[in-house]
Amino acid sequence: MTRHSTRRALVIGAGIGGLAAAATLRRAGVEVQVFERAPELRPGTTAVSLMSNAILALRELDIDIAPGLDKRGEVFDELRFLTRRGRLIRALPFRELAERLGASNYAVHRADLQQTLLEAVGDDRVIEFGAVAKEFVTGDDGVEVTFEDGRKASGDVLIGADGFNSTIRRQVPGGADRPRPGNYACWLATVPFDHPRLTEGYAAHYWGRGQRFGLADIGHGRAYWWATKNVPPGASGRLRRGKEGLAGLFADWADEVREAIRVTPEETIVRITAQDRPFLRQWGTGRVTLLGDAAHPMLVSLGQGAALAIEDAVVLARHLRDTTDPAAALRGYEDERRPRTEGLVAAARALSETEQLEDPVKSRMRDLYFRLAPLSTFTRQNEAVLTWPPPS
Ligand SMILES: Cc1cc2nc3c(=O)[nH]c(=O)nc-3n(C[C@H](O)[C@H](O)[C@H](O)COP(=O)(O)OP(=O)(O)OC[C@H]3O[C@@H](n4cnc5c(N)ncnc54)[C@H](O)[C@@H]3O)c2cc1C
Repeated sequence: MTRHSTRRALVIGAGIGGLAAAATLRRAGVEVQVFERAPELRPGTTAVSLMSNAILALRELDIDIAPGLDKRGEVFDELRFLTRRGRLIRALPFRELAERLGASNYAVHRADLQQTLLEAVGDDRVIEFGAVAKEFVTGDDGVEVTFEDGRKASGDVLIGADGFNSTIRRQVPGGADRPRPGNYACWLATVPFDHPRLTEGYAAHYWGRGQRFGLADIGHGRAYWWATKNVPPGASGRLRRGKEGLAGLFADWADEVREAIRVTPEETIVRITAQDRPFLRQWGTGRVTLLGDAAHPMLVSLGQGAALAIEDAVVLARHLRDTTDPAAALRGYEDERRPRTEGLVAAARALSETEQLEDPVKSRMRDLYFRLAPLSTFTRQNEAVLTWPPPS
């Protein structure tokens, strides 16, 4: 077998995972070129929760994104679960856990997270825009990727960080699978928002029957909100309603919920159908691997998709740094990441099903459980997710 170290990595996609990989691989001494389909960085108009495990993982490579997040986003010290009318079901404290683990949990606009990751990359010239990856060929000594405009690039390894509909994944054995519906639709937006309920660091989930609403302070006078509504399997098109229809769905919910929808310009509301994919056993072949949503797309209930993509980037860089055999390093990375990501993809689906319960008796029992279960149960579950390195 030919053995030589990894000098040049090609990363497809400049999303959260691709930017994180550029930062970690550069820190590991690997030359990186990122290829992004879009003509410029387009982070979107929504926001994400970025949890402590991502921040702690990056610190393993002496990359600290907490100052950037402190400046641009908002720390949330507690997550409230409320009824649809705003009555408290349970408040889960995060502050003590965050202090113990050594990093906070943030709600942050995607543009602000992207800016923070770009700072960690240190040189935005590593990103080539308008490059749509089409296919790859991998050999003993390297890998070559071809773009839709006929361009080619070669390197020692290829990282498919090209998101949910990954082109690179389709060429990996088993990767040409079909998305698995989550059976609910989501609407999302960020908006300047002034409401007495939206205090500093406010983060809340409102639970109805087959319907949810999330509201979070993302700093600088802005809120992030998302709404969900069950759709019968295969009938997601029927929920393509605009803002007026959405407002109708939440007409008898808490004032801050109705107000958040009311003040949001219709054209800034993003609508998507919730979906993941069956867990992929093999993430790569030869000099190629996958990272982030390309490898393990998940439903959004755990708010961990971005953090897991960042964790992937850290583990990948560690394996490539410590090896003289790039293909073996990629398999080592995949083996290390599979158990944790598989567990969390399954946990996100199970939590989604619980949160989207429509049956009146079952949803009442869910609320009762959340009200009465000992705090230690939730703390233990959260700690297993928010810790880095993850528990074995
Ligand atoms: C509604 C919703 C809410 C979410 N909320 C949260 C949350 O609160 N917390 C959280 O942690 N996660 C959340 N997530 C998940 C999170 O957004 C993803 O897990 C994360 O963005 C994955 O990053 P990625 O880099 O793998 O993919 P992406 O961020 O999707 O990036 C993929 C990139 O690849 C590019 N690309 C695609 N194809 C090609 C190609 N052929 N050639 C070149 N470039 C290509 C795309 O343009 C894009 O820039 C949410 C997701 C959704 C849908």
